[in-house]
Amino acid sequence: MRADVFEALAEREKPASAYDIAESVGTRRGKRVAANSVYRILDLFVRTNLARRVESANAYVANSHPGCRHDCIFLICDLCGTAVHIDDDSLTGALRKAAQDAGFAEVRPVVEIRGHCAECASGE
Ligand SMILES: [Zn+2]
Ligand SMILES: [Zn+2]
Repeated sequence: MRADVFEALAEREKPASAYDIAESVGTRRGKRVAANSVYRILDLFVRTNLARRVESANAYVANSHPGCRHDCIFLICDLCGTAVHIDDDSLTGALRKAAQDAGFAEVRPVVEIRGHCAECASGE
């Protein structure tokens, strides 16, 4: 089941919800799969750094760099749903520091920028 969920997630080009993934896995297995059990597996993937959660889209993407632990920055297109992923530790590091300076512990910056992706913007 975990392998099927991961495969279904990895073949998606855009962030996918647990329902999307449950549907893919269900089709693959030829029987209905509960979104709840997919949720649990996706959360496990997030905890183990195999996947990332795109909070503002309530969706998940396979982690493109599971070997490194840092705060990913997502640019999410309002029009097509694509999530572009950038890494800039100086940006997220400043946020971490600001939160820690304010006495916040277990800091986990969530940096998501909404807008129109290059492809959608050029077609406007
Ligand atoms: Zn990243
Ligand atoms: Zn777009």
